[in-house]
Amino acid sequence: MFPRTRVLPTRPALPAWKVILPLLGAAALGWGAYSWVTRPVNPAVQPAARQGTAAGDWATLKTFGPRAPGTPGHDRTLDWAQAQLTALGYHVTRDAFPLEVWTDGGATVAGPGGLTVTGRALYGSQGADQQGALVAVSGDATESQVDALDLQMKLVLTHCPARPWGAFAADLIDQGAFGEAIIDDCARPPALSRAPATPLPMLVLDRAAGTALEAHLGQTVTFTARTGTHTVQAGNLVARRVQGQPQVIYGAHLDSVPGAPGANDNASGVLAVLDLARRAAGTPDAERAWFVLFDGEELGLTGSRQFVKTYAYPMEQTRVMINLDMVGVNAQPLGVAATEDLLPLIRAARPGLREFEDDPQSTRETFGRSAGPTGLSDHAAFKAVRIPAAFLHRGVDRQYHTAQDTALNTALVQDAADAAWTIGQAALAAPFTPRPECGLTGRDCH
Ligand SMILES: [Zn+2]
Repeated sequence: MFPRTRVLPTRPALPAWKVILPLLGAAALGWGAYSWVTRPVNPAVQPAARQGTAAGDWATLKTFGPRAPGTPGHDRTLDWAQAQLTALGYHVTRDAFPLEVWTDGGATVAGPGGLTVTGRALYGSQGADQQGALVAVSGDATESQVDALDLQMKLVLTHCPARPWGAFAADLIDQGAFGEAIIDDCARPPALSRAPATPLPMLVLDRAAGTALEAHLGQTVTFTARTGTHTVQAGNLVARRVQGQPQVIYGAHLDSVPGAPGANDNASGVLAVLDLARRAAGTPDAERAWFVLFDGEELGLTGSRQFVKTYAYPMEQTRVMINLDMVGVNAQPLGVAATEDLLPLIRAARPGLREFEDDPQSTRETFGRSAGPTGLSDHAAFKAVRIPAAFLHRGVDRQYHTAQDTALNTALVQDAADAAWTIGQAALAAPFTPRPECGLTGRDCH
């Protein structure tokens, strides 16, 4: 036997709610205070910012260099534009998203007798090793001339193609070619054109390498191309007043293609959007418009597609989205492509604008086969969710997507901004019924 220990009576534990409720209360208070302190507020309009001009902005912007995502010029442009828009009194957010960009890992050709030449991979190609007989095809060959050739399992060598390189490469692949090497002996730099998404080696060689390889026509050689992708940070800049509604959205893409300074395509649109933001700054118009600089336009309208998903709900208020792309060089007089519902309003507001049709298949990957980039711009993402959209554009100039896209005319930029402003004002003055709520996905907007 051992003595039983007696349990002493203890105080009952505090009921859980007595602990949890005060804690919850304190957390709610803390959260409330935190939200209040960190709530978005409108920055003050800086008088100096309102004195800016498109010419002054261009003098700064062009010093940043090309704006391909992942390059320093791109990031500096984002920082600079954000500062400009903030100084104009807008609350600016940078809506970041990852973007996959293509990378060149180099290319080689190997053959009999110790032949080795090196070059680079064709932009957008997917790289591989292929062996085959080397044949020559004229760079001037038209699509129908290429279609008449039998290139089954051949490796093609060609001088500077007269057509966009991507389209030319696609025709060769369609005829059964296992790869191609382009000798870059072009009289002027060719426009950047994306290679077909086929895992075959597509190479670009300089003159000397091309000449060395030409001595081996008819022999069996091996083409090797190494390509890859890497992920970079991209981001749309969205400038608005904190309570401002996107009744009008003015937009332009700020990215450029690799190797092109992108003056007309599309520093011109960026300058126009800054000009519009400046006109509205400090006036009631600022509360009714959003100003957006899209990223990743050149990589498949990535930024604008992202935007329409993110802002489906406030866009029930959107009367018009106005996209400015390539408005600083007059390949043609200023033109507009707009959704049917907007045309009467645009004709009345700005008579005499050249009207054009944008590409109805703008969402399809065309590998440069379409007649031009017309229609392949950010307004297409808005049209796709049934938002009235107008695209202001001066046609495709000779410098398009080349290293020579270095100049623009700020008077033309100004004129395009005038047209955008006039159309925006007319849309704000017109009767409007908000569209039914879109829902989070934007899928119900139709
Ligand atoms: Zn563009």
